[in-house]
Amino acid sequence: MSASARIPPIAQPFVSDRAKKTLDLVEEFVEKECIPAEALFSAQLGVGEKRWKTNPAAMEELKVKARKIGLWNMFLPKNHFSQGAGFSNVEYGLMAEYLGKSKVASEATNNAAPDTGNMEVFAKYGNDQQKAQWLSPLLEGKIRSAFLMTEPEIASSDATNIQLDIRREGNEYVLNGSKWWSSGAGDPRCQIYLVMGKTDARNPDPYKQQSVVLVPANTPGVTIHRMLSVYGYDDAPHGHGHITFENVRVPLSAMVLGEGRGFEIIQGRLGPGRIHHAMRTIGAAERAVDWLIARINDDRKKPFGQPLSSHGVILEWLAKSRIEIDSARLIVLNAAIKIDQGNAKFALKEIAQAKVLVPQIALSVIDRAVQAYGAAGVSQDTPLANLWAMIRTLRIADGPDEVHLQQLGKRENKSRREEVVKRLAWQREQSDKNLTANGFPKTKSSL
Ligand SMILES: Cc1cc2nc3c(=O)[nH]c(=O)nc-3n(C[C@H](O)[C@H](O)[C@H](O)COP(=O)(O)OP(=O)(O)OC[C@H]3O[C@@H](n4cnc5c(N)ncnc54)[C@H](O)[C@@H]3O)c2cc1C
Repeated sequence: MSASARIPPIAQPFVSDRAKKTLDLVEEFVEKECIPAEALFSAQLGVGEKRWKTNPAAMEELKVKARKIGLWNMFLPKNHFSQGAGFSNVEYGLMAEYLGKSKVASEATNNAAPDTGNMEVFAKYGNDQQKAQWLSPLLEGKIRSAFLMTEPEIASSDATNIQLDIRREGNEYVLNGSKWWSSGAGDPRCQIYLVMGKTDARNPDPYKQQSVVLVPANTPGVTIHRMLSVYGYDDAPHGHGHITFENVRVPLSAMVLGEGRGFEIIQGRLGPGRIHHAMRTIGAAERAVDWLIARINDDRKKPFGQPLSSHGVILEWLAKSRIEIDSARLIVLNAAIKIDQGNAKFALKEIAQAKVLVPQIALSVIDRAVQAYGAAGVSQDTPLANLWAMIRTLRIADGPDEVHLQQLGKRENKSRREEVVKRLAWQREQSDKNLTANGFPKTKSSL
């Protein structure tokens, strides 16, 4: 059955025929071109320092193939941008699932984070000059970019803590401070950093102190000290940089949107991006299920005389994984549909639900597949260990689970408490009336 035939019935009415055709092309491209190219991509990256200086030829070849069949920039939603391929969030969400099955597919189709979020920032908030200088080459896949918010000295899940200083001096801004987890900064093609810092640390409104400025990667005073690892993986050539800024000077025209508008920018940036991550994560979970099915049907491996597919507990893992993935997909598609019907702000609750739920489910699914492979599951011989490490970071990146849960809980309580308390009190009263009217004593409950 093709990818378009597998679209959940709930989402079908929101998907055009053109998107369905593209979805089938994405599936074919990922299964037949991207997954078989992964080993070559890794081999071409090589070892040691070379990994930060190489753009594997396999990637450029995939990009040429993807463009030729029209798989390019599908992420920019048609309701809000004219520069993309003209799909809605739900249509692209379905495609992102397949892209998430392969670690090279998103970049091959120019739908890779953090460039996607950064391109949205340029398209939404950039002026004409910023768009010409940075958005155009990013849309063409000629350069890469990084978004620098997190800092080593503070708790960055609360972005009001950000400290990097952006001081205005004449017709320049001067930046001082440090950043880490700057994803993408390791790539030799990464030419532009979108840097969040404080232009007005004394502003009484803590959400008006921050701004985002554009800093070309080769600006004097910018130093990349090291690349951080994720459970031992270096994620080359992309990487996660630890970077300092020492009297880094940029012109006033480097300011995005205006001083004090940093929060607005990060909020606008992260909504759709979280849905893209969530759908790619579903794809990663589906890949783990593919591997699980292959392992439990491997005739050479028969613990205690039977293939794993004859052991009840293993079939239960497979069934649970299917239930979890299919329900998680509905949560994400629901959020994407809600964004399409309004915007990311309109769908805050649904986006947060997907952001928290999907990585947790995917981790359980991947972990079951790891277990089914025994020792091989934690090795480099399956993609499972790498998938697990990658997905585990999503419970922290773009805001830890706890922050989203706290906001969800607060919102749920605030919006419902009055009505729920009133309704339950009324029901208790009616219940007592029913009891006394029929000759029974009232309940003694104090609730
Ligand atoms: C692979 C990866 C890629 C990343 N890429 C980027 C990037 O490109 N650019 C960028 O700027 N950043 C990036 N980050 C950083 C990421 O966004 C931050 O790590 C995240 O926002 C959390 O900030 P922190 O690490 O400072 O943790 P802290 O803010 O110190 O939080 C630590 C822990 O405290 C707990 N906590 C926090 N708030 C609450 C609360 N309200 N209630 C209960 N518990 C709470 C949570 O368990 C949390 O994990 C990346 C991170 C990873 C792992």
